Amino acid sequence: MSNEITRFHTGAPEELEKRFAQRAAMMQPSEIRALFAVASRPEIVSLAGGMPNLSALPMEMFAQVVEKLVKENGQEALQYGSGQGHPKLREQICDVMALEGIRAHPDDVIVTTGSQQALDLISRIFIDPGDVVLVEAPSYVGALGTFHQYEANVCHVEIDQDGLIPARLREAIASLRAENRKIKFLYLIPNYQNPAGVTLTADRRTEILDICRDEKIFVVEDNPYGLLGFEKPSPNAMRAEDSENVIYLGSFSKTIAPGFRVGWTLVPQALKEKLVIAAESSILCPSNFAQLAISSYLADQPWRDQIASFCNLYRERRDAMLEALELYFPKGATWTKPDGGFYIWVTLPPEIDTKAMVPDAIAAKVAYVPGTAFYADGLGSWSMRLSYCYPTPERIREGIKALGGVITREMARRELN
Ligand code: PMP
Repeated sequence: MSNEITRFHTGAPEELEKRFAQRAAMMQPSEIRALFAVASRPEIVSLAGGMPNLSALPMEMFAQVVEKLVKENGQEALQYGSGQGHPKLREQICDVMALEGIRAHPDDVIVTTGSQQALDLISRIFIDPGDVVLVEAPSYVGALGTFHQYEANVCHVEIDQDGLIPARLREAIASLRAENRKIKFLYLIPNYQNPAGVTLTADRRTEILDICRDEKIFVVEDNPYGLLGFEKPSPNAMRAEDSENVIYLGSFSKTIAPGFRVGWTLVPQALKEKLVIAAESSILCPSNFAQLAISSYLADQPWRDQIASFCNLYRERRDAMLEALELYFPKGATWTKPDGGFYIWVTLPPEIDTKAMVPDAIAAKVAYVPGTAFYADGLGSWSMRLSYCYPTPERIREGIKALGGVITREMARRELN
C-alpha cells in the first residue's frame, strides 16, 4: 500500500483540465458505465445492472398517492422543507428500521437523496487525502468511486461465504497502524452484499463491532437490501447492537422505488450536526415531494406485503440463475449462493480475464460486470458479478447458457478444461 494517489486524465481538453480544482482529476467514469450502455440494448440479456424490478409495483396505486398528495397537501409537498428531512417520514423510518432490531429516535435520522448521498456526505466529513477507508473485498462500485474522489486510500479486507473475516480485519488494522496510517472508517454491506451476495453472520457482526469500537474506527453499515431476505429475515442490523460507533445507511430504492431518491442515515448523536450542515450545503433539503409521497405510501398502503412480493419475484429469479449456473457453467467456476438481494459472485480460474472476455459475451448477447470494477486495487480480474434482479427467469437461463458457452470456450482456448 502506498500513500500515492494516482491521478488520471478526465478526458477534458488539457487547457480546461488546468482550470479544474485538483480534486476534479479524481472524478472518473466508473468502469461499468460504458458497459451499461451496451447492456441495455434489447437483444442483450443484461446480468450487469442492479436495477430493481419495478414490474411488481402497483403503478395505479402510486398514481393515486401522488395525485392525492398534490391535491390535498401541494403547498407543503412542493415547498422547501427541513434540511434534516421531514419529521413525519423520519418517524416512519424508525418503524422501518425496527424490523431489523434498531431502536432509534427520529432526531438522529437524516433523510438523504438516496443512500449514495449519505456516502458522499460521510466521505466529505471524514476523509482527508491519503486517509484509509477499510472495505470488503470486493465492495460496492459506487462507494469505491466516492471514496476515490475524496482521495482515500481504500484497503480491502477479505470476505468469505459468511461475510467479512474478523481475523483479516484485525491483521489489516495492525499492519496499517504499524505504518502510522490514519484509518477513518470501515465500510461494509452486511446483508446480501453488493457484489458478492453474501451475508455477515450474527457472531461476526458482534466481533467486528468489538474490534472497531476498541480501535476507534467508525463502522459505516450500508443496508439497502436488508429487508430482501428470501427464506428468513437477515440478522439484526449492526446498528441495533451499537448506537455510538455505527453510522447506518438505509434506502427506499430497493424496497419501494429508486426514482424517489429517498434514503437516510442514522448517525451517532455527536455526528448529526456536521451531517446536516454538509447535506444543506449540497442540496438545501431533500425533496419534500418525494418524502411525502413515500410517507403517504408507508402510512396508507400495505408496504410489508409489497416487500414480500418483491422477495418472491427475486427468489424465483435467483433460483433460475442458480439452476442455470449448475447446468451451463464449466467445472472450475464457483459461485456464491445468496439468501436475498440481487447478486451472485462468480469466481473462475485465475488465468481467465473477465474484463477481456466482455466483447465475446456481448457477441453472445449477454452482459455481466467484470470483477475488477469492485476493487480499488485492480484485483478481481478472474471474477464477475451477475445480477438476477431484472430479466425474466427465461431470459436469465438463456443468458447463463450463453455465458457458460463463452467461459467454456475461453477455458478451452487456455487449455484449462
Ligand atoms: N449502497 C449499495 C450497496 C447499493 O447497491 C446502492 C445502489 N445500487 C446504493 C448504496 C445507492 O443506492 P441509492 O442511492 O439508490 O439509495
